[in-house]
Amino acid sequence: MEGSEKLENEKTEKGTDKPESQNVLTSTRTVIKTALDKLGYSQEVYDLMKEPLRMMTVRIPIRMDDGSIKVFTGYRAQHNDAVGPTKGGVRFHPDVTETEVKALSIWMSLKAGIVDLPYGGGKGGIICDPREMSFPELERLSRGYVRAISQIVGPTKDIPAPDVFTNSQIMAWMMDEYSRMKEFDSPGFITGKPIVLGGSHGRESATAKGVTICINEAAKKKGINIEGARVVIQGFGNAGSFLAKFMHDAGAKVVGISDVYGGLHDPDGLDIDYLLDRRDSFGTVSKLFKDTIGNDELLELDCDILVPAAIENQITERNADKIKAQIVVEAANGPTTIEATRILSERGVLLVPDVLASAGGVTVSYFEWVQNNQGYYWTEQEVQERLEKVMVNSFDNVYKVSTARNVDMRLASYMVGVRKMSEASRFRGWI
Ligand code: GLU
Repeated sequence: MEGSEKLENEKTEKGTDKPESQNVLTSTRTVIKTALDKLGYSQEVYDLMKEPLRMMTVRIPIRMDDGSIKVFTGYRAQHNDAVGPTKGGVRFHPDVTETEVKALSIWMSLKAGIVDLPYGGGKGGIICDPREMSFPELERLSRGYVRAISQIVGPTKDIPAPDVFTNSQIMAWMMDEYSRMKEFDSPGFITGKPIVLGGSHGRESATAKGVTICINEAAKKKGINIEGARVVIQGFGNAGSFLAKFMHDAGAKVVGISDVYGGLHDPDGLDIDYLLDRRDSFGTVSKLFKDTIGNDELLELDCDILVPAAIENQITERNADKIKAQIVVEAANGPTTIEATRILSERGVLLVPDVLASAGGVTVSYFEWVQNNQGYYWTEQEVQERLEKVMVNSFDNVYKVSTARNVDMRLASYMVGVRKMSEASRFRGWI
């Protein structure tokens, strides 16, 4: 008994692959291959892009509050740095795996290409459960991770940022550790910092703002008026909750929301301000209600706009033909499978894919890095105006490719996303 339990633990410790992360990597590669073929690029370009250029695995020994030592496993993947330094978040989650980090780093390259930032993609993760760790333990882990990956990161090499279960406090510890090691203040080493440490206005809500801008653009294409439009949001974390607020304030009716424990539905529109007020720091609120609905029911609710803002593989061939929304905007990473994308697009549903819709976060991270590099800071309004411009242009660009080449918005986004990276790799003489 004890032996098998130990073996189980070791398995999770090493981040043994979940089938989902394998699926995510495989489907990303499939779409990249199709995009490269459509653009006329050779197999060599695909071979370069299907894997990160660098993948570092680190073991981080941390003293826990009870005096024991626990060794954590972390990763940092750098997908492609032909365009510029790599960039992307670090997630703290028990389900982090090497394969998932790889796939997420590829997505970051695509996002950077789509919104035209001078970056390649990177991603990091640590297998841990921050919900069960104290503040001092999290601080030691954050600092330990930076020491472990310090050789391959830096303001002109690879710039980390927040991701699942990491926040501005964790970014602050990481920045402080890096600055101490290098013996000079390095705010440009990491983004998503608190404002007083060189963070940017608008960074915290940037992903949701980007999604909101995509919703507005998609609604124009479909002739839907945001005022009075019925919106369903799956997930009430950072992206989902800010988005609910933005939609509500714009006059839309948020008729459904959900968290890990269940969904809430009101055809007349939910009281978003009240729900935000009662939401805990891990984004849960539905526990407070008796009348909840299941995940499947939530996704299939009668609505105009559906925003999956939670986890992967939510819209599949099983439920794609039951989705009633005319617009699906992916705020989460990988919520719709390839097969479901095909079904939705055949049904005329306008799907705005993750790599475009969720690029607002990295866009404002770029603004933060620019401000750090120049030592001159922008107002909230300047940030918002610039973000609006970037997202509207990127949406238009992808939409144009999608109509001109008669492909869905996901494939069009990938085509835009891989192009600059391929060109830069070619000019550098790599391919
Ligand atoms: N983790 C976020 C993303 O996946 C943000 C990355 C960044 O700001 O660099 O887009």
